[in-house]
Amino acid sequence: VSTFGGTNTVFGLVDATGNIIDEGHFATREVSANPLTYFERLNLDLTRLRQRNPDHPPVAVGVGAPNGNYYRSSIENPPNLGWGIVDVNEQLGRHQQVPVVTTNDANAAALGELLYGAVGEMKNFILITLGTGLGSGIVVNGEVVYGAYGFAGEIGHLTLVEGGRICGCGRRGCLETYVSATGIVRTVYELLASERSASELREVAPSALTARAIFDAANAGDAIARLAFSRTGTWLGQKLADAVAILEPEAIILFGGLANAGDMLLNPAQKALDEHVMGTFRNKTKIQLSSLQGKNIAVLGAAALAARAIT
Ligand SMILES: [Zn+2]
Repeated sequence: VSTFGGTNTVFGLVDATGNIIDEGHFATREVSANPLTYFERLNLDLTRLRQRNPDHPPVAVGVGAPNGNYYRSSIENPPNLGWGIVDVNEQLGRHQQVPVVTTNDANAAALGELLYGAVGEMKNFILITLGTGLGSGIVVNGEVVYGAYGFAGEIGHLTLVEGGRICGCGRRGCLETYVSATGIVRTVYELLASERSASELREVAPSALTARAIFDAANAGDAIARLAFSRTGTWLGQKLADAVAILEPEAIILFGGLANAGDMLLNPAQKALDEHVMGTFRNKTKIQLSSLQGKNIAVLGAAALAARAIT
């Protein structure tokens, strides 16, 4: 079972109950010049993984990747890679000799939450991954929504601000340009320019101004850092209100580095959500942290995808 994101590729061998038996990783950019080099490396690592674990032969491979297409088992024009359309089945299936199933990394994470997380009886929820960008996987009636062509569930590219910040997708004002690790850094730059408050972040070199540094400053009581988190949470809740109007999920589950901010992010998000939804939906949908937070949801998600495909 394997999965990868734009920065790191992580892979693992997972048993039927969701225990990660063995795992590994490599830096995607070291081998991402073209898909052939990339999959050569991944196949090599997966072969070694199998050789290390002869008692656990894999029965399927699940892949969670940016722009992964469930219907075609392909990765199509992944951001920042310049790959075009890659047939994952051909690249992995031929070498691994087991069924290969592919989807978007956030969809895989939602499946991981469904199979191995603590959602319990919940059949309708949205999983939001807050990393470099904002990914989302939508579960309706216990199934991930893939859409007509395989790319459904891009909440990160709903428009938050008309004519707003430039997004990697080529549009402007997308939610993920505000609510993500990179988004909160942009917010802090703006706040440092527009607010007079003292802030330790004013002393930080631009290259060192990361979501992590903002998180640490907020924990230490820094006013600008705290304001950045409260705005980020408010924007998230405001836009999630639109998703709630369409889907009426039981919960919205947050996962990823930025979600470590916990209540600093969750409280303003919940407040804004309940302020922006119409009365029918108010005080129903709960925004909560993933029960898999801190675990390897990338690997568990891809494993859940594979497990679903063969049962
Ligand atoms: Zn966008």
